[in-house]
Formats: sequence, C-alpha cells, structure tokens
Amino acid sequence: MKAKLDFGLNVVSAGDGPYLSVVIPVHNEEPNIPALHEDLLATLDRLGLSFEILYVDDGSTDAGLKELRRIAQADPRTMVIQLRRNFGQTAAISAGIDHASGEVVVCLDADMQNDPADIPRLLARLEEGYDLVSGWRVDRKDHWLRRRMVSHVANWIISRVTDLKLHDFGCTLKAYRRELLQHVRLYGQMHRFIPALALNVGAAVAEVPVNHRPRLHGKSKYGLERTFSVILDLLTLKFLGYLYSSPVRIFGGSGLTLIGLSFVSGLAMLFQKFLYNVSFIQTPLLLLSALLFILGFQCVLMGITAELLVRTYHESQGKPTYVVREVFRTDR
Ligand code: UDP
Ligand code: MG
Repeated sequence: MKAKLDFGLNVVSAGDGPYLSVVIPVHNEEPNIPALHEDLLATLDRLGLSFEILYVDDGSTDAGLKELRRIAQADPRTMVIQLRRNFGQTAAISAGIDHASGEVVVCLDADMQNDPADIPRLLARLEEGYDLVSGWRVDRKDHWLRRRMVSHVANWIISRVTDLKLHDFGCTLKAYRRELLQHVRLYGQMHRFIPALALNVGAAVAEVPVNHRPRLHGKSKYGLERTFSVILDLLTLKFLGYLYSSPVRIFGGSGLTLIGLSFVSGLAMLFQKFLYNVSFIQTPLLLLSALLFILGFQCVLMGITAELLVRTYHESQGKPTYVVREVFRTDR
C-alpha cells in the first residue's frame, strides 16, 4: 500500500494485507469465546476498516478449539493458529504476530477482561503518529493485593529499569505498527516488555486508559510466581540490551579500571619499600596487585570475546545494527 505525502514522495509501507490484525492468545477459554467474538465483531464492523482476527490456541485442553474452528469456518476474516502444546502467552502472541498481515496489530486477552470497545481509541491515538499505544487498566478488576499491588511495584521497577514511564506494562490490550514488531523477538514473559524493546528501536510510545472487567468464566492462569519470571526477564532484557550495543566497552571498562588499580597497588608497594623499607613479602599489596592485574586482563579478554560473539550474532543473521523507519524516494 502506498500513501501520498504532501511533498510528492511516496511512503513505501506494508503489503496488501488488511489494515488491522487482532491477535488473541487463548488457553482454555471455551466459555468466553462466543461472547468475545461477538463483542469484537460489534466493534470492528462499526469501524469500517479492513481487518482480520487471529486466535492462537495455546494448547487448550477444553473444547475451545472446536468453537474457534467453527467461527473461522463461517468467517474468512478469522484465522485460528493451533500450537502443538501450551507454550505460554508470550509465545502465543508471537505466533499470532508472525501470522498477521495487517499494518497495525492489536493484541488482547481472550477472557473478556479487556474490552474490544477500546480498540478504536487505541487506533485513533496510533494515527496521531505513534508507533505503539499501550492500554492502561485504570480501574483494574483483579485482586487488590495479589494482583494490583504487585503489579504497581512491578510497573515502577520496569519503568525505572527501561526508562519508559508506563503505568501498566502488563495490559495485553495494546496496538502496534506491525513493521515495528519485526525488530522485536519475544521470550519468556516478555510480551509486556514490547514497549521497552520498541523504544530501543526508536518507537514513539503512548498510553491510553482502557476499561477492565472482572473475569466471569474460568480462572486466571497465573499466580504470584509470574512476578519472579517477570523480574528475571527484566534483568535479562537490561543485560542483553547493554551487551548487544558494545560489550567491549562494558567489560573492557571494568577491566581497564582493575588494571589501573593493580598499578596503584604496585606503586603503593614500591613507596613502602623505598620510603619505609617494608619488604615486598611483608605486605599483601604484591598479591593484590597481581590479582587485580589478572582479573582486569581477563575482563578485557572477555569483552573482546563478547564483542566477537555479538558481531557474529548480527552478521550471521544479516541483522543490521540500525533500524530504518521509512525510505522516501520519488516515483521512477
Ligand atoms: N494464555 C495463553 N497461554 C497461557 C496462559 C494464558 O494463551 O499459557 C492466555 C489466556 O487464555 C488469556 C490471556 O493469555 O487470554 C491472559 O491470561 P489470564 O487471564 O489467565 O491472565 P491474567 O489476566 O490473570 O493476567
Ligand atoms: Mg485475565
């Protein structure tokens, strides 16, 4: 699809897919599916946009898949992707995104806790020029201690660590420009970090308050243990983020500092020897100096090795070290 810009240039953008792809991870949500689909269609049909709905069945053990198949059979705008087993919500979302062909991807939960009626507001915000619009469940209908308090603290930590101020990273209801998602790989519980990953590649991120409803059917698939996986994922993210950019600067920096300290310790030793006649074997400084030097040297070597790894990683996958937003050119 090509859009004309004022100054006579063409924006080269996505292919011939629909405008909107709605991605929904589903794990044992049979009782929620019919109402969810009806709600979705009510909103999407009113919007008058071309759209597709992608349900990703994440190894459900109930009869939900049958229900989804029935829906897909009746409506060519609906696609069902069945995963071979339960891979988890993040993997399900990834699978949906990989199969989506819309210019814009909206994700939401299958349990009806997110309200499809919020989709138009997300899209409107996206069209104001944002690349990613995140839902914020202002009045969240979950257990206050187990869920809301924990998530409050988690959001604060994630905001600090990722330098992206969002109130609700965990809200699945988000809208993305699909082109942006092609630069983002998701592991573990990382779907909640897409905004932070996107920020890394220069995305403009906005937040919009959305409705949240109590779960009517079925149980939540998560307990408190998710907090730990989220924090560990956050650590990985931060560490890899640093490491990918320039590892030799991180390891090498600390390595050179250690070597510097080893020289300081060596000098102190010489001072003691020649000013106060303290023998080398009487002070621990010789040992300290040697230890610091070896550690520092190892650190520098590790930095170089890591640099080599990162370069192999980028080059073996043909991954550029930059991300292009758009390419402008005149008609030929
Ligand atoms: N989900 C999934 N795979 C899983 C766990 C959950 O696809 O292994 C889906 C689930 O069907 C729902 C969404 O992810 O659509 C969110 O799950 P849940 O409502 O249990 O999480 P909560 O809202 O309690 O955080
Ligand atoms: Mg839920």
